[in-house]
Amino acid sequence: MKYVITNCSMYNGQAESDLESAVNIYFVDGTISEITKEAKIQEGYTVIDGTSKYVIPGLINTHAHLFGTGKPSKSLGGGNSQKLLIGYIKTKLGQRTLHGMVRKSVRAALFSGCTTVRGVGDFFYSDIRIRDEVNAGTQIGPRLLVSGFAITTHDGHGAGTFAITGDTPQELQDQVMEVYRHHPDLIKICVTGGVMDAKVKGEPGIVRMNEQQTIAVCDKVHELGLRVASHTESQEGVKIALAGGVDTIEHGSELTDQMVADYKKRNVAFNCTLSPALPLCRLSPELTLLNDMAVFNSKVVFDNIVEGTKKALANGVLVGMGTDASCPFAMQYNMWRELCYFHSYIGTDNKQTIHIATEQNAKVLGIADQTGTLEIGKSADMLILDKNPLEDLKVLRNVSTVICQGKVYAHPVIKKNEKIEKILDTLLE
Ligand SMILES: [Zn+2]
Repeated sequence: MKYVITNCSMYNGQAESDLESAVNIYFVDGTISEITKEAKIQEGYTVIDGTSKYVIPGLINTHAHLFGTGKPSKSLGGGNSQKLLIGYIKTKLGQRTLHGMVRKSVRAALFSGCTTVRGVGDFFYSDIRIRDEVNAGTQIGPRLLVSGFAITTHDGHGAGTFAITGDTPQELQDQVMEVYRHHPDLIKICVTGGVMDAKVKGEPGIVRMNEQQTIAVCDKVHELGLRVASHTESQEGVKIALAGGVDTIEHGSELTDQMVADYKKRNVAFNCTLSPALPLCRLSPELTLLNDMAVFNSKVVFDNIVEGTKKALANGVLVGMGTDASCPFAMQYNMWRELCYFHSYIGTDNKQTIHIATEQNAKVLGIADQTGTLEIGKSADMLILDKNPLEDLKVLRNVSTVICQGKVYAHPVIKKNEKIEKILDTLLE
């Protein structure tokens, strides 16, 4: 298939580039083949008129789970309703329901402008199954990098839900092999606890994997040629994750100067996720369904992420951003909100924010040779917008056309939860 987007305004995703006008972008069989400024359009291409339109690279969501919608629910918080839910999805009917959910999630992500999504922990390899279906062309979705089940210790984050567990280094390595058997793109571990499973006020990032356990997992995964992403929400946890050899630290914490040096020396990326933390600590508990402790802990996590991200960026640590979709208020179609939050709370300008969500996120995932910028030879992953996102990031809310690996989706329609959208709009500046 041969296409050309004619006469558009293009931002190619690179930090040093600016918006260019009157650009023609040619792509053939899913790859960008030419970018020109000539008035004459070559023959033999299907023309997409880009006059008065804006084109940027497709967004990359570096941190998502595919099983949920993002609608707040008691069953995410543990207890009996969670047990019932897990019991149900183990059944045949439950598996079908789960697959239906995952299918809707990847479609919503794609149609809202994400041309790449990294899944970091899902149930029963449903993420791997949908990835294979998308790659085979039997389902619609973005480029997917997925981890299958996460791995942690018996009382770790996600244990018994989206994570399988082991305690000795050998047991943990066996679990790596168990996940590897299903052909994941990466391995996800949980070095610390999270907001929902914290038992103590102020301690959402309690350490659940020690250095020895973390080293055992990372060594094994690297031997297999894959990368490790670690859920890590405290300074103590970050120290262990860095010493243990993980490749990306998810959520993160405030950073000491030594940590900054270690991130850079070990080439580890800091992956910021504001989409769940911000609503959970800013909205009223009647809306979030959280108890006092969870509200308090969300605030700890939010402040940690903001301070850590700012320091990482200021000191040249590789920083990415993702939504943690499936968490309460982190909807599958709201990557654009993560950009808005990042701009407001981390303080990057609009262009830098888009650069991080595209080129830099591709670097965080190790796929910058394939996607993340609009350049000849890269995958045709791009968004066509009616208004200029460099002037206002909120225009990303409505993408006019999504192009993913050369497939063109014009005027994609997403079913949104309008009630939650209204609530989340109160958090926009
Ligand atoms: Zn997550």
